[in-house]
Amino acid sequence: MRICRFNEERLGVVRDDLVFDVTEVLTRLPKHTYPYPTYDLLIANLSSLRPHIEELANKKNGVPVDSVALQSPVANPGKLIAAPVNYVKHLEEARADVGLHHNTQIKAIREMGFFLKATSSLIGASGAVQIRFPDRRNDHEIELAVIIGRKANRVSADEALDYVAGYCIGLDMTVRGPEERSLRKSVDTYSVLGPWIVTTDELRSPADVELELTVNGQTRQKANTRDLVLSVAELIEFATCFYTLHPGDVIFTGTPEGVGPVVAGDKIVAKLSGIGSMSIDVVT
Ligand code: MN
Repeated sequence: MRICRFNEERLGVVRDDLVFDVTEVLTRLPKHTYPYPTYDLLIANLSSLRPHIEELANKKNGVPVDSVALQSPVANPGKLIAAPVNYVKHLEEARADVGLHHNTQIKAIREMGFFLKATSSLIGASGAVQIRFPDRRNDHEIELAVIIGRKANRVSADEALDYVAGYCIGLDMTVRGPEERSLRKSVDTYSVLGPWIVTTDELRSPADVELELTVNGQTRQKANTRDLVLSVAELIEFATCFYTLHPGDVIFTGTPEGVGPVVAGDKIVAKLSGIGSMSIDVVT
């Protein structure tokens, strides 16, 4: 199943090139009063709601997916977790270019662990990346993004994929410079998720996903998740040694080689096999 959020807080199922509005299903979510849960309610209840979602979608007429504004498919992620350097060739390119990480230590992911991106940086596929510091270098990073489906703590790699709700495309945008990574990657609009979530029954193996990113039609990044240093399952094992993952938490699994600068006026197209593609404008 492919789940999207679109227009004004609408929930949709994507089938071929059509979106079927299933927003009514949200009335079935558990009612909460303040303080609200700090995880994503829809993702937490996705498997129990799924039969209702499918049934509603069957009764609706679809509209072309191109005609709607796609929001981030996760509305309320508690954490945006990101793997810093998780492809060997990107590690090599980062070591070769001190400007990329401004002489901060470039270590392999086993030593480095994860960083966090602010949830306020999140936009969806119909959003635009707004450059905040045009005088500095701003880079694109295409990544496979993993959406956690249920609470996970001290999970072994063997069982880790059972905790995944689905996958989408992630753009981990970055302003280069001397500040802490988590700050530079948390600029408003610098986390893009989309175009929709593909659930794990449809995308069974996160270990063979082709990634491609173009800027103005020219290929910048092209790789396959089989070259991840730590696999999706190992990333979940690693993360859950340190903290509990909650439904709707997102793991950006790291970017392959080919990161490069973008400026206002550029158009980024990010494509992941088994998921789809999204086109993001870079603006000032
Ligand atoms: Mn990244």
